Amino acid sequence: MPELKDRAYWLEKAQSLRIEGRAFVEGRYVDAQSAATFNAYSPVDGSLLAPVALCASADVDLAVAAARRSFEAGVWSQLAARERKAVLLKWAALLEAHSDELAVLESLDSGKPIADTTGGDLPGTIYCLRWFAELIDKVHGEVPATDPQFFGTVTAQPMGVVAAVVPWNYPLLMAAWKFAPALAAGNSVVLKPSEKTPLSVLRVAALAVEAGLPAGVFNVVTGDGAVGRDLSLHGDVDCIAFTGSGKVGREIARNAAASNLKRVWLELGGKSANIVMADCPDITQAARSAAAAIFANMGQVCSAGSRLLVQRSVAEPLLRELLVAADAYQPGHPLDPDSVTGAIIDGVQFERVLHYIDIGKQEAQLLKGGQPLALEASGAYLEPTIFLAEDSSARIANEEIFGPVLVVIPFDTLEDAIAIANQTEFGLAAAVWSSDLKTIHIATRQLKAGTVWVNCYDELVDMNFPFGGFKESGNGRDNSVHALSKYTELKSTIMRCA
Ligand code: NAP
Ligand code: MG
Repeated sequence: MPELKDRAYWLEKAQSLRIEGRAFVEGRYVDAQSAATFNAYSPVDGSLLAPVALCASADVDLAVAAARRSFEAGVWSQLAARERKAVLLKWAALLEAHSDELAVLESLDSGKPIADTTGGDLPGTIYCLRWFAELIDKVHGEVPATDPQFFGTVTAQPMGVVAAVVPWNYPLLMAAWKFAPALAAGNSVVLKPSEKTPLSVLRVAALAVEAGLPAGVFNVVTGDGAVGRDLSLHGDVDCIAFTGSGKVGREIARNAAASNLKRVWLELGGKSANIVMADCPDITQAARSAAAAIFANMGQVCSAGSRLLVQRSVAEPLLRELLVAADAYQPGHPLDPDSVTGAIIDGVQFERVLHYIDIGKQEAQLLKGGQPLALEASGAYLEPTIFLAEDSSARIANEEIFGPVLVVIPFDTLEDAIAIANQTEFGLAAAVWSSDLKTIHIATRQLKAGTVWVNCYDELVDMNFPFGGFKESGNGRDNSVHALSKYTELKSTIMRCA
C-alpha cells in the first residue's frame, strides 16, 4: 500500500533529518576557517534548524581556488560532453531518490508549503538539471563560409570559475537555474545561497559527489552578503550570475567592473501587470489565475502578477470573483499537505510587507486581508491582501512588495493599460486576457517584459523558454538554450589550409 503522506508523515520526516550546516568545498563539508557560525531558523515556527558556517574572504578564496584547480585540471571541463551528461543525469536521479527529504528540508528552511516543495521546487530542480544534461551533447559550433584556402570554426568554450549568488524564495530551484547550465557547459561553480535558506543546496552538494562530479567542481560557501560581495570582487572568478534585488545587483555590477570585468548576469525584481480586457474569454478563470499569480509562494515571486489591471466595465464582476478566489490562499502549517500557502520568510520581510500595507491604506482602498495571523508561536503568516488603487502612481502600484499583496488598477482603454503596465522600472513579466486577436497582438508586442502570457498567468514553466527581464529587471536569461551561452566564451579559429 502506498504510504500516506499526511502531516504526521512530514513532521516525522522533519524530526529525523540530519541537517548539515557546514560549507562544501573541494568535495567535502568544511567549517569556516574562523569556525564562526550563524543560526538557521525555520520560518515555520522560529525553531533553530542548524548552525551554519559563516564564511569570510579566506573561505571564498579556498572555494575559488578549488574551483580553479578542478577547472584547469580538466577533470570536468575536458570531459566528453556525453560523460558530463551521465554524471548530471545521475545527480538528478539521486535528487529524485531523496525528494521527500529535500522537500521537507526546503519547507522547514523557507516556510513554503510541502505541497509546493514536493510538487514544484523539487520536480522543477530535477527537470532543470536533466534538461541541461540532455542539452550538452546536442549543441554544436559553426563553420562560417570562408575563402577556399581557409577553414574556420566558431566554438563555445567554458569560461572557467562561475560564481552564483541566489535568493531565498526558491532556494534550490534558483540555484539549479544557475548551476545546471554553468556545469553543463563545463565550468566549475562556487555557489552562495541566501543566508536565510542555505540548507537544501548544502545537502544537494554531497549528492553531486555521490553522482561522480569531481571534487572542486561544485562548491557552496555559506554566510551573509559579504560572501557574495567577495565573489563579485574576486580576481579569479570569470563570471557571476545573480538572482536577487536590484540594489545588490547594481553593487555586483560595480564590483565586477572595479575588479576583473567578470561577466555579470542579473535576474532582478518585478512588478508584473496582469491585464484583463472587457472581452476576456472567462472572467472566473481570470480571477482564479490572478489570485494564484500573486498569492502563490506568499507573493515572494519575482514574476508575481502583483498588479491586476482591469478594464473598468468588467471591474465589478472580476473583483467579486477575485475576492472568493483569494480565500483559497489562507496560510496554513507548511508541513500540512493541504496548505496552499505557508510562512513569510522572516521577520524582516514580514515587517517590510506590513509597512507597504500601511502605505497602501493611505493611498488606496483595502478590499481584503492586511492582517497578520497567529498560526504558530513565532512564524510570520499573513492573510492574502487586496487593494483597489484608482491612482496608478500609488507607491504600492509601482514598488515591488514581494509579499501576498495585490493591487487592482482600473483602466479605460488598451493604450492606457499598456502605458500603466510599462510605467515601472521593471520588465519581468506581463499577461493579457482578451478574445480579440488584434488586442492580443498589440499587447504582446508593446508590453516591455521578458515573458508575456495570453489568457493565462505563470503557466507552462518549461525549460525551453528563456526567463528574465527587460529594463531594470536585469540582463541575460535563465533556462533554454540561450542560458548556456551565458557560461561560455565564443572562440573563432581560423586555419589557412592551402
Ligand atoms: P538580495 O537581498 O538581493 O539577496 C540575494 C542574494 O545576494 C543573497 O544570497 C544575498 O545574501 C546576496 N547578497 C546580499 N548582499 C550582497 C552583496 N553586497 N553582494 C553580493 N551578494 C549579496 O535579494 P533577496 O532578498 O534574497 O531576494 C528577493 C529579491 O530577489 C526580490 O527583489 C526579487 O524580485 C528578486 N528575485 C528575482 C528573481 C528573478 O529571476 N528575476 C527570482 C527570485 C527573486 P544574504 O541573503 O546572505 O544577504
Ligand atoms: Mg531559513
